[in-house]
Amino acid sequence: MTALRLENVTKAFGGTQVLHGIDLTVEDGEFVIFVGPSGCGKSTLLRIIAGLEDASGGKVFIGDQLVNATPPAKRGIAMVFQTYALYPHLSVKDNMALGLKQAGTPAAEIEARVGKASSMLSLDQYLKRRPAELSGGQRQRVAIGRAIVREPTLFLFDEPLSNLDAALRVNTRLEIARLHRELSATMVYVTHDQVEAMTLADKIVVLNGGRIEQVGSPMELYNKPANMFVAGFIGSPQ
Ligand code: ADP
Ligand code: MG
Repeated sequence: MTALRLENVTKAFGGTQVLHGIDLTVEDGEFVIFVGPSGCGKSTLLRIIAGLEDASGGKVFIGDQLVNATPPAKRGIAMVFQTYALYPHLSVKDNMALGLKQAGTPAAEIEARVGKASSMLSLDQYLKRRPAELSGGQRQRVAIGRAIVREPTLFLFDEPLSNLDAALRVNTRLEIARLHRELSATMVYVTHDQVEAMTLADKIVVLNGGRIEQVGSPMELYNKPANMFVAGFIGSPQ
């Protein structure tokens, strides 16, 4: 089954074209990474998939549903941001539960899902704390937990490790890889970091200037880069 399909997706801000006819298919269970230099359109593309931004043209399908006109909360997606985007006045538990409460999920079901997610992420002993009382790594785990409890058909991550120090980055990266396996989840993940892309992805989408340069497995891109840009980008950390 196909989890996500983009057909000729374009985006302009004012007169500036930032995405030029993006075509892409993501299969169920795949871990797909958008990689490319700053400003190439990665976040914009992810936000269009999430419904936080409208495409200027083209079609977005999640599963077999055309979702161009579907609001974010009805798309079956959950997104994790670089800045965590937690509510400072709510406890860890309430941050994780809020979306489910708003969706009218029964209290017992919320309790069960939050309990399961917090044990997967080793957050059990932090449930009563506020975000300010947590480390950066713990805050990002709460944001990931908040995504998990929604049981989305599609996880979207926008540079989730960028605000973490080097050791935590490795740690959290391994954690996300583990969750991908344990949940058999479909994940679309944005980064400008080649190492993250090469170690996490089933499939890498290399973007440059709002266009796809190449789509392939890490080994395909490494062994058979389509052009100098891909060769340079995958080859040399920047
Ligand atoms: P990336 O995530 O790859 O760094 P973005 O998707 O954030 O890139 O941005 C792609 C381009 O679109 C950039 O040139 C950026 O300045 C521009 N852009 C992004 N969001 C907006 C916006 N809301 N209004 C105007 N221009 C934007
Ligand atoms: Mg970005």
